[in-house]
Amino acid sequence: MSYTGPHSEPFGPTDPYDPYGPPRPRRSPLRRTLTVALAALVPGALLGWLVYETLGGSGNGGDDGGNGAEGVGAGARTSVTGSPTAGTPDHKAGTLSASASPSPGQDADAATPLKGRVVVIDPGHNVTNSQHTAEINRKVDIGTNFKECDTTGTSTNSGYSEARFTLDVAHRLRTLLQEQGATVKLTQDGDRPFGPCVDERARIGNAAHADAVVSIHADGSAEGNRGFHVILPGAVHQGAADTRAIVAPSKELGKLIADDFAQSTGSSRSNYIGDGTGLVTREDLGGLNLSTVPKVFIECGNMRDTKDAALLTSGAWRQKAAQGISDGIASFLRK
Ligand code: ZN
Repeated sequence: MSYTGPHSEPFGPTDPYDPYGPPRPRRSPLRRTLTVALAALVPGALLGWLVYETLGGSGNGGDDGGNGAEGVGAGARTSVTGSPTAGTPDHKAGTLSASASPSPGQDADAATPLKGRVVVIDPGHNVTNSQHTAEINRKVDIGTNFKECDTTGTSTNSGYSEARFTLDVAHRLRTLLQEQGATVKLTQDGDRPFGPCVDERARIGNAAHADAVVSIHADGSAEGNRGFHVILPGAVHQGAADTRAIVAPSKELGKLIADDFAQSTGSSRSNYIGDGTGLVTREDLGGLNLSTVPKVFIECGNMRDTKDAALLTSGAWRQKAAQGISDGIASFLRK
């Protein structure tokens, strides 16, 4: 967008269309020198920006493993029974872009706006949970009640597991956030036989003093149920659970992620939960109840719907999903 306010005045005529104005002074030698210097600087800065872009300023970290038949436990996911939140999602300011000043010396800060911020990514479930049913069925204390340590998650009808999906999106998201300077920690990286349990997932975010935590999932609902939804923590205060301090910031984080996820993926907000807002508040999830830092879950789509599954199994779509989540987190952290 061009801006022709008073700040542009030193470099141009005050008002070339004013017939009664004073005659324009001849350019002084100093002004001519400045103009020449500027003319030399602008292409240089432009070149610097182009080099930055070429060298990975907008790189994609894809590690798409593609589809594959993988044994998935038959354990169905707990059905979603949360109460939808009232109101409609806010619209927020623009998403992060590489429009910062390209002047030399400012590139480092402009390119790493999330430097010093800590983000914990929680890839839902675990690819090998299905081989450890006894361990993951063990009950853990989530403050409000006891729940299974973890679950196997769902899968598409063709056998692409939710756990593979969440880990792939988590990797893409980690790359995007690290490129912006954030410190990123995953609750699991395919590096443990099962879990972590939901209580430990929450405590990993707490121990990291995370500025934001996002737990990545995909739903297992009926064919025809489509779209994404973001799950926000409800206010609970019981046992080890006390979410009262994180309800408001988590809601803000969730709204921003929902907006940017919709924009980046082109996906619709869920048509089966949340009354079209794409936002659902729940008080029964240990991962949220035990969190002391802003945290949301995102159900990126419905793996059991054929059309949603076609998106969820696409590496290109998962990159858009990761981008949307990254944009939402960045918006939240820059507020
Ligand atoms: Zn899940």
